Amino acid sequence: MNRVEADLHVHTSCSDGAHTPEAVVLLAKERGLAAVALTDHDTIGGLAEARAACERAGIVFVNGIEMTCRCEGRDVHILGYLFDEANAALGASLARFRDRREERGREMVAKLNALGVEIAFDEVKKISGNAPVGRPHVARVLVASGAVKSVDDAFRRYLYDDGPAFAPASTLSAPEAIALIRAAGGVASVAHPVLYRGRPSAETLVEVLADAGVAAMEVWHPKHGPEETQRLIDLAKKYRLVETGGSDFHALAYGGVAPGDAGVPLETVERLRALAA
Ligand code: MN
Ligand code: MN
Ligand code: MN
Repeated sequence: MNRVEADLHVHTSCSDGAHTPEAVVLLAKERGLAAVALTDHDTIGGLAEARAACERAGIVFVNGIEMTCRCEGRDVHILGYLFDEANAALGASLARFRDRREERGREMVAKLNALGVEIAFDEVKKISGNAPVGRPHVARVLVASGAVKSVDDAFRRYLYDDGPAFAPASTLSAPEAIALIRAAGGVASVAHPVLYRGRPSAETLVEVLADAGVAAMEVWHPKHGPEETQRLIDLAKKYRLVETGGSDFHALAYGGVAPGDAGVPLETVERLRALAA
């Protein structure tokens, strides 16, 4: 294992995490971390609160995001760090992403209807309320309609990634996401390259994205096994990418991953700063 002083991958209640940005920063502090990067999915909504909490706690704050995008026909995740949070193009892209959630919900319902499963988008909206429409909401309507036995069953039969009723959450390509982060003065890192079930492979992904201007890659992650980690260290060397890492923390209740369960030495933050505009 490497020296863990900075956790560069954590989520909060601003995306699908369970704890507020302030609570996550306090957890990072309790765990002895010297720096933390907030990387909520497709939102920068938690950054201001986290920055203030880091200042109070006396730890280094790194702004971040985990962008959902498409690469080689699949959803992949690109981490962005140290960008200008007021950048207009990035803000517009995140706003489009929010709008896309509703359109995507309609697409999934249309696919289900085409498969002979009669549910209506209004029923999905009734369940999602003010939250962005997601697959779990569609799954719950499928359960209520009797089409499937459980939410798990709905995912297994219809809603899994690239399944018969799946629609992608993002219409942004990975090179576009990288370009947005770089144009906002930030540094882009390929998130958990071995966790896309082999399609695309880490090798393909990194080859394509290094060409697109990615400067870093997430090597250190709780779900990367020792052999996978070594494979990624070698890939990072080959393409001269900065090794990033973090816990991908979502909640104390899920699976026992806590802030600092994976991460990088503090020098990594300085290397990223040197690359940021
Ligand atoms: Mn998540
Ligand atoms: Mn991810
Ligand atoms: Mn994540």
